[in-house]
Amino acid sequence: MPTCKNCGRKWSWFDSIKKLLRFRKKMKCNHCGEIQYQSTSSRNTTSLFVLFPIITIPFSVLFNLSPTSVLLLELAIIVVVILLMPFFLKLTDKDEPIW
Ligand SMILES: [Zn+2]
Repeated sequence: MPTCKNCGRKWSWFDSIKKLLRFRKKMKCNHCGEIQYQSTSSRNTTSLFVLFPIITIPFSVLFNLSPTSVLLLELAIIVVVILLMPFFLKLTDKDEPIW
């Protein structure tokens, strides 16, 4: 779970999800109210996760799955990816460059 760089307290899984799903660069710590940013390395990891559902599409074609099962599979993967994202969220108190 992410730890606030300002007060050193851990963010809960639920708080992290809520902040990640807003897709804002600035994330306010619930404990101290300081603005935190997602670190560059963590941002790179989570953007790879976003690619994951796309990577699975050729496999579904390969296994000759019906469009409905592909859709369900993609949805399931997206849900899992979102649920796992807080575990890879790392915070920094400075806004880092994208790469
Ligand atoms: Zn804090």
